[in-house]
Amino acid sequence: MYAKVALNLPINKLFTYSIPEYLIGDVSSGKRVVVNFGRKVTTAIIVSVSKISVIEKIKPIQSVLDEEPVVTEKIFSFGEWMSEYYLSTLGECLFLSIPRNTNIRSENYYRLSDDYISRFDKFKHENEIYVEIIEEFERSGDPYLSKQQILKKLRTDSVDSLLNNLIGAGIVQKHLLYKKPTRAKLIKFYSRNFAIEDIDTVIRERKVRSQKQQNVLRLMCDVDKISKKDLIDLTGITSPSLDSLVLKNLINVKEDRYYRINQVGFRENQSNIKMNTEQEEAFNEVVKAIESQEFGAFLLHGVTGSGKTEVYLNIIEKVLSVGKTAIVLVPEISLTPQLINRFGNRFNNRVGVIHSRLSDGEKLDTFDSIRNGNVKIIIGARSALFAPFENLGIIIVDEEHDASYKQENSPRYNARDAAIVKAKIFNCPVVLGSATPSIESYYNALSGKYKLLQLTKRPEDIKQPEIKIIDLARKDKESFEEYVNSQSNKVKFDFFDFIDKVRLKFLSKELILEIDTRLDRKESIILLQNRRGFHSYTECINCRNVEMCPRCSVSLTYHKSFQSLKCHFCGFHRNYTGLCSQCGSERLIPKGAGTERVEEEIALLFPKAVVERMDSDAVSSKRNFKRILQDFYDGKIDILVGTQMISKGLDFPNVTLVGVVNADIGLLNPDFRATERTFQILTQVAGRSGRSLKRGEVVIQTNHGDYHVFKNVKEHDYNSFFQRELTNREELHYPPFSRLVLIELKSDDRNLTESKTKEIFNLIAKLDKNKIADVLPPNQPLFSKLKDKHRYHLLMKCSKKKDPGGSAINSVLRGIRSYAEKNFPSKLQLTIDVDAVNLL
Ligand SMILES: [Zn+2]
Ligand SMILES: [Zn+2]
Repeated sequence: MYAKVALNLPINKLFTYSIPEYLIGDVSSGKRVVVNFGRKVTTAIIVSVSKISVIEKIKPIQSVLDEEPVVTEKIFSFGEWMSEYYLSTLGECLFLSIPRNTNIRSENYYRLSDDYISRFDKFKHENEIYVEIIEEFERSGDPYLSKQQILKKLRTDSVDSLLNNLIGAGIVQKHLLYKKPTRAKLIKFYSRNFAIEDIDTVIRERKVRSQKQQNVLRLMCDVDKISKKDLIDLTGITSPSLDSLVLKNLINVKEDRYYRINQVGFRENQSNIKMNTEQEEAFNEVVKAIESQEFGAFLLHGVTGSGKTEVYLNIIEKVLSVGKTAIVLVPEISLTPQLINRFGNRFNNRVGVIHSRLSDGEKLDTFDSIRNGNVKIIIGARSALFAPFENLGIIIVDEEHDASYKQENSPRYNARDAAIVKAKIFNCPVVLGSATPSIESYYNALSGKYKLLQLTKRPEDIKQPEIKIIDLARKDKESFEEYVNSQSNKVKFDFFDFIDKVRLKFLSKELILEIDTRLDRKESIILLQNRRGFHSYTECINCRNVEMCPRCSVSLTYHKSFQSLKCHFCGFHRNYTGLCSQCGSERLIPKGAGTERVEEEIALLFPKAVVERMDSDAVSSKRNFKRILQDFYDGKIDILVGTQMISKGLDFPNVTLVGVVNADIGLLNPDFRATERTFQILTQVAGRSGRSLKRGEVVIQTNHGDYHVFKNVKEHDYNSFFQRELTNREELHYPPFSRLVLIELKSDDRNLTESKTKEIFNLIAKLDKNKIADVLPPNQPLFSKLKDKHRYHLLMKCSKKKDPGGSAINSVLRGIRSYAEKNFPSKLQLTIDVDAVNLL
């Protein structure tokens, strides 16, 4: 007997292994097996089993990992579709449904040789990165480190040659070891050994006199079993005292599986909400589809604050009542503690969370809880789409317009689009929700492909916030007096004088005045600056040099708190000295404002206000997002400054002012979606203001006040925005009128990359006989070099009219891939991105 298996590798084929006699009974498709591959041991998924094989020299399967198939028929169909549509390998797609560290595999590990100290002496002067590597080994508690572990600490993405040099010099040794897979956790659980009604008799007759012991016994009448930790936490009992209850045979102790389930936790005042008519109507439409157990796609277009979450909660309650399960996708799980909390309040421990920051144990236990039926709802970022539910009843994709649903490495799927396919396979409805639907989804709704559900009102007559657009370019021309005279509030003279002295060019007086008013009223303020760091770049006034990352075509950002210049793409950083790297002068001037600078200047202006910053720097280091959000909700923070992180999903009743410091960031990017993204982020962040009965206001600062998108945002006019965008898209043949495919080539050799891109350009003309694709000539993207790799792009706009299902263009793309596999040198990387989102 032979098995065809899929490996979790970017190799586009299946591999055949023989099944030893003693394993024949255990092997079936959908189970995982351990196999030898090259010199390593790895885990594979059985795709099919057959009696004959044409291949000679077949290695045997080592062992079978699963008692039951983990990849069922439907999960397999989904993986197969994904691998075909996005041109990734079947293995890569199937393994998305399995927690990575439950697979058995061997990996290269590195350790210091016994006499490394003497050998390293002459080596360390060559490059300081060697010292960093050795220090990493010395610091680590484990003598063995994997390449990934070393890489994580070094902020570089290639250590191969460095490690090889160290191995060559006898300083480091390489070993092939098994990586320990994550396993189920067993702990001691206690249960009662008496009937509940006998509790008082037991305490009296068995002479349980300690109050804590009595509390334990009473507590155990309420639960079937409880862990030691919980018992101690709840009653304060000591370990010996607990043991004596066991010795008296009043309670049993037994080892059992403990499920490590991630708790997000967020406190807020929740009242029971009754759905309004619009919510009812939307809910009823989806219920029809749930009851008929049929596929159906819905677009829930609900303005900010209109209560989409309440509709989701009711839909899911319905789904559970018919014995089915639900997947809820959100753009970034860590930013939505409120949403998870609301689901948790409603559905308790039937809710599980999947995201990239879960520990391996939490991941395993969450997946097992799905399989054993304890968890019926999964909330998570895009990878939660692969939660292995069998009886799926609904998929909800919240904030469906969000770009983070697109995975930017293989498999390059878009979770929103894949959710539609998954729902079809599982015969269940799918709901895409947003206040600012993507042009593609809204077009699908208008053309009848999706059913459009609309929520146009906030509950209880809460009005949409009033939005002011401040044109900074025009304001500059107006004189100071003119402005002050136009204001009724003349008391603020001294204040403005101060502002003029500190010359806060990036904050308009209007915005400052509004902030001041809110602080007086003890209301909360959100300030969006979608750029982290202190200054966005540094320029030399002597020679005009802008300090650039040596590895990327990107300017370095000045981070004051680290006193360093950082590349936001590759992590490169160096100390900030104030000296120009080109001419050596001391006239390096930081320019532009990032979140750090806004935070600092605001704190200077309003010394009594509590200001906090939320961006990926602040969240990953000292301060943690959950605490910041909780403090902000509780009113301990007056002003929250942040990147687009703070634009999503927050529902804080006390926020009455949202300020957008620079609305132009990203607006002028060479990307056809730049306007759409601006509209979305501005509308979303504006929606954070005035969510209770206090009227909200929004101040948006721009240098391009005449640009139509600002008018649309100001008037809450999605339809005008959509119509104009759609017309543009049609004229330029962009989605939804075409399918976009981005082909990227990159290598450290610019000429090679360029010439091979031309080769592919010519190849497409040959392969695409029906002229489905309109291909833009090879060009260098905005970031023409990243991490020392030169990049070239070919953008293909593929006609949906000529090729509705996309199968014709798919075969062209396959042709390109196999041509590259045969003809390209290995250092040249080719990626094919179907339905590309990131074009920079
Ligand atoms: Zn860089
Ligand atoms: Zn200079």
